Amino acid sequence: MGIVRLIIIGVAVWLAFKLFKRMTSGPSTPESSVKESAPKKMVQCKQCGLHVPIDEALPKGDDHFCCDEHRDQD
Ligand SMILES: [Zn+2]
Repeated sequence: MGIVRLIIIGVAVWLAFKLFKRMTSGPSTPESSVKESAPKKMVQCKQCGLHVPIDEALPKGDDHFCCDEHRDQD
C-alpha cells in the first residue's frame, strides 16, 4: 500500500515539474521568436516588382522601391 502511494506521488511530482519547466521555458523557444518576426508588412518595388519588408524599402511618395537605383529610375 505504502509503496504504491509513494510511486503515485512521485509520478505526480515529476509531471508537475515537467509542466512547470515547459511553462517557464515557453516564451524563449525558437518557435515563438519565428512567430514574432513573421507578421512583417511587405511592399512591392514599383520598378522591378520585388517584395521587400517595409522597413527595408525606400519610399518615394506613395510608392516603394527595393534600392536607390530603382527609385532614381522612376
Ligand atoms: Zn526594384
